[in-house]
Amino acid sequence: MARYRGPVCRMCRRSGQKLFLKGSRCQTDRCSFDRREYPPGQHGRMRRQKGSEYSVQLREKQKVRQIYGLMERQFRTIFDKSARERGVVSDIFFKNLECRFDNVVYRMGFARSRNEARQLVRNKHVELNGRIVNIPSVKVKVGDQVAIKEKSRKLSLFALAEELFSRRAPLSWCESNFDKMTGKVLSLPVRDELGINVKERFVVELYSK
Ligand code: SF4
Repeated sequence: MARYRGPVCRMCRRSGQKLFLKGSRCQTDRCSFDRREYPPGQHGRMRRQKGSEYSVQLREKQKVRQIYGLMERQFRTIFDKSARERGVVSDIFFKNLECRFDNVVYRMGFARSRNEARQLVRNKHVELNGRIVNIPSVKVKVGDQVAIKEKSRKLSLFALAEELFSRRAPLSWCESNFDKMTGKVLSLPVRDELGINVKERFVVELYSK
């Protein structure tokens, strides 16, 4: 599956907020957004235009898509599937985004960013319910067990990820054990705990046109 390979800090500067796409760097004074809190480009320093209703909706949609590191087609597919489920579309949409295998690995603290989590999954470092699964988009269910493959546990990136994880607010819906390098999904994701500062109603409005 294709993925964006360009400079990710531009996305934060374009969206006007920190999207935390680079793991540890986002917490340091090397964060590009903290240093240059204006949009990228030659005219970036000029005052931000408020924009049309459409551009506001589009910006919010782009933020969510970039946070989860998805291309438009994948993102839209998840939205369309969510819209067909029973319940509040935005809640179901976030639940489906959060339940992706790569995101769960990130949420459990085994990776510093979703991008890193995706690489771990693709490179067969992570087991789901006792079997290696290398498909980042697999949907994880309540009760599923995640574990780092035994041979991979000594990789230095896990120590860095654990250190970063210790500074994040704990989540009620998944747990992790860094001694055993395992984790478990305890319940469905809770929107209020996700720490994602976007107005999802704009995403629903945009895709419902
Ligand atoms: Fe965004 Fe992180 Fe880059 Fe800062 S360091 S601009 S939060 S991706």
